Amino acid sequence: MAIIAVPQLTDNFAYLIIDDSSKECGVVDCAEAAKVLDEAKRQGVNLTTVLSTHWHFDHVGGNKDLLAAIPNLRIYGAKAEHGRIPGITDAIDDGDEVRVGGLRGRAIGIPAHTSGHVAYYFPTLKSVFSGDTLFIAGCGRLFEGGAATMLQSLSKLAALPDDTKVYCGHEYTVKNLEFALTLEPGNKILAAKHQWAKQMRREGKWTVPSTIGDEKRFNPFLRTESPEIRANLTRIAPEVDNDNVKIFAKIRELKDRY
Ligand code: ZN
Ligand code: FE
Repeated sequence: MAIIAVPQLTDNFAYLIIDDSSKECGVVDCAEAAKVLDEAKRQGVNLTTVLSTHWHFDHVGGNKDLLAAIPNLRIYGAKAEHGRIPGITDAIDDGDEVRVGGLRGRAIGIPAHTSGHVAYYFPTLKSVFSGDTLFIAGCGRLFEGGAATMLQSLSKLAALPDDTKVYCGHEYTVKNLEFALTLEPGNKILAAKHQWAKQMRREGKWTVPSTIGDEKRFNPFLRTESPEIRANLTRIAPEVDNDNVKIFAKIRELKDRY
């Protein structure tokens, strides 16, 4: 069992999920098929499955090319994406099982960035693939859902065990942490993570994965209850009035403009 990040485009990640016993692998999101096929070959595994988190081009733009190379490829994606995932063979709902060789995972419906965005959770790998919903120290933009929906989606991910690794769709970490520090400058764990992330990027390394437990310690979108965040927000925007959804919406709005 292994998870391998395959960089795509400028800051996207595809992830290979390898099942050692069957030598099968799946890929979570694919924008550039050639890079994914090359990595599967390098690992000596057969790509049999695509797990699409949502319909955006930078996550599914490689599906058609993968299908051309592997005609019997299985492509999972949410029904609630309403046919926008190219090449989809297995339309899934929240809670449905997904398989990669002998590995079993499940789809978690986490709408708001898109109407049918899903995460893929593999308990035996202690890993969740969160697409553009939960980033390290950030969350996705609200394109097809409101703040209340995104809060609910994030809380489903936050309810996973703390030691669950988080593999997200983009390398946005340093910028996210920088923004988080504007709201919670007194959070020492956040400041330390920022220093660490900058160092990793200087060394040309990625910052994935994170963990659910760590995200709860520094991700402002999971910390709407933080007294420091609340105090700072109330100063900028008194109308948020200690209301969780309003606080979340305000943080999202500030981040959109950051
Ligand atoms: Zn997206
Ligand atoms: Fe994206």
